[in-house]
Amino acid sequence: MNKLVLASGNAGKIREIAQLLAPLAIEVIPQTSLGIDEAEEPHDTFIENALAKARHAALRSGLPALADDSGICVAALGGEPGVHSARYAGEPKSDARNNEKLLAALDTATDRRAHYCCVMVLMRHGADPQPLIAEGEWHGEILRSPRGDGGFGYDPLFLVPELGLTGAQLPLERKNAISHRGRALAQLLERMRGTQ
Ligand code: IMP
Repeated sequence: MNKLVLASGNAGKIREIAQLLAPLAIEVIPQTSLGIDEAEEPHDTFIENALAKARHAALRSGLPALADDSGICVAALGGEPGVHSARYAGEPKSDARNNEKLLAALDTATDRRAHYCCVMVLMRHGADPQPLIAEGEWHGEILRSPRGDGGFGYDPLFLVPELGLTGAQLPLERKNAISHRGRALAQLLERMRGTQ
C-alpha cells in the first residue's frame, strides 16, 4: 500500500495522523481534498461509526481508507459525550461551545475522571470483509478552566495527572506518544505488519 485516504475532515486529527504516519512511505490523502463528503455517523459505538466512515471513503475514492472515530467519555456523565463529542453542543460543530457545555455539566461534580477513546479502522477497499481494527484510550481529568492552546477539541480541559499538563499544553509529538490516537495507530501498524 503506497497511498491511503484519510476518512476525516477534522484538521486536528489530520495533523496528528499525518505526523504518526510520516515515517512510513505512504501518501496520506485527506478525503476533503478528493471532494468526498463526510459520512453519516448514526451509530451508538465508536467501532460502528469508524467502520461506516472507512467504508464510505474507500467506496468513494477507490483507495484503501483509514478512519478514526474518537471522543471523550466522562465518568460522572455516564460516558457522555462519547460518540457525540464532536457535536455535543449541537450544530454547527464548535470546540469552544462543546467545552463550555462540558464545564457546565460538571459544575458541581467532584468526580472529574474522563478518558479519550479512539477506534481506528483500515479498509483495503470498500467491500473489505476483514478490515484492520485497533483501539486506544487515554485517561485523565476534566479541569475547571482551560489551559494551553495546542491540540484541538477538549484538549484544553483534559488534564494528564501524571504530567500536570493538559492535552493542549503538549507538543504534537509528545501527545502522539501517549494519546488514544497514538496508541490506536501503533496497534494498527502492528496489525498491518502482521498481515504483510
Ligand atoms: P469524530 O470526528 O466524530 O470522531 O469526533 C471526534 C471528536 O471527539 C472531536 O471533534 C473532539 O471533540 C473529540 N476528540 C477526539 N479526539 C480528541 C483529541 O485528541 N483531543 C481533543 N478532542 C478530541
